[in-house]
Amino acid sequence: MAKLTVRDLDVTGKRVFLRVDYNVPLEEKDGKMVITDATRIVETLPTLKRLIEQGGRLILAAHLGRPKGKREATMSLRPVADKLQELLGRPVAFADDCIGESVEKLVEHMKNGDVVLLENVRYYNEEEANDPAFAEKLAKVADVYVNDAFGAAHRAHASTEGVARVVAKRGGQCAAGLLMERELKFLGDELENPAHPFVVILGGAKVSDKIKVIDRLLEKADTILIGGAMAYTFRLAHGQKVGKSLVEPDHKQTALDAEAKAKRLKVQFELPSDVVVAKAVETGKLNKKGKPVMDFVNIHTVTDAIPEDAEGFSIGAATAAHYAQIISGAKTILWNGPMGMFEDARFAAGTNAVAQAVAAATQQHGAKSIIGGGDSVKALNKAKLGDKVTFMSTGGGASLEFLEGAVLPGVAALSDK
Ligand code: ADP
Ligand code: MG
Repeated sequence: MAKLTVRDLDVTGKRVFLRVDYNVPLEEKDGKMVITDATRIVETLPTLKRLIEQGGRLILAAHLGRPKGKREATMSLRPVADKLQELLGRPVAFADDCIGESVEKLVEHMKNGDVVLLENVRYYNEEEANDPAFAEKLAKVADVYVNDAFGAAHRAHASTEGVARVVAKRGGQCAAGLLMERELKFLGDELENPAHPFVVILGGAKVSDKIKVIDRLLEKADTILIGGAMAYTFRLAHGQKVGKSLVEPDHKQTALDAEAKAKRLKVQFELPSDVVVAKAVETGKLNKKGKPVMDFVNIHTVTDAIPEDAEGFSIGAATAAHYAQIISGAKTILWNGPMGMFEDARFAAGTNAVAQAVAAATQQHGAKSIIGGGDSVKALNKAKLGDKVTFMSTGGGASLEFLEGAVLPGVAALSDK
């Protein structure tokens, strides 16, 4: 069912309760919390500007970190209010709380186009508990509800779900922001009816993380390309030697079932033919978290058995070239999960080659390319190809659940068109 978006609203003079994702990375510098990456704030500006131009009175709600119901000073949204004001080029008032009289007073004095950012909603345990009384308190300052925090839409919390229910019950509109609208369009509509050939690239660490996505997309895709550590569970299931690679022995059958389903539905299902392996050795050093820092030696490519003392860390060059060839013929591409441990440059080549192929198919052949998953987006940005694909999800865990076909509570709570 299509959901109402901010394009369908007239918010002139109305109080718009706007849930945003301002869970930005912060660092302490000289006793002050400083935002190290403002991307999430920047991304909300189109929605904000649209509502401001219409003369809405914006009351922004967000969470930051995991304060677990306490007023944790390092997790205050105050620095975000300052940053937003700078980026928006107009005043942003900060409310020291997210509910109560002080908020109501502040909102009473708002004029059309004014913006208030509420303090961290997770200063209250009631937020994550989706406590109905707390949702009522949040909704006290809401005529209209807008959700632009796709990354939090898979959680039924008070500010993502409960407050929308209260507003809707009163006959108020609940709509998706522009960011949320794009997520629903690309991860939802575009994949529902993809242009063919539809090539799905799946990687990452675990089969168990991705099996629901594999299962659902087998019904739509023409080709599925498997990479990442996930591939070794398939190898294991085929009785091949995987050395010390990351595998899930309990999911051998899951892997075999996916392959059988692909065969039945005549979906081309590709597993890596070569693998970059290495031997992990301890360096004797500890990282910040006190865990031993490993180094990798004897890095080389194998096609058959992974040696006893070695681990697979990426798809090999032959696999990357083969996958790139298939990707070049695609009209729709969905990519979720890196092809290897790309964080280490020595194992990034396979992921980068696939990223190049996806970018080229998009730029040169007009393919629609959709990237979901936090680490996949990181890998693409690291390869400086983020702006060469059609869409990168901001969702992380939410995008994975959405791709699995789950109904996200934060989306379900929005008004139908
Ligand atoms: P996404 O966030 O895009 O959904 P995942 O979280 O499923 O992706 O997987 C990403 C992680 O998987 C990365 O941290 C990467 O290092 C790891 N990974 C991928 N391939 C391997 C491999 N062969 N061995 C170990 N780790 C791997
Ligand atoms: Mg991840």
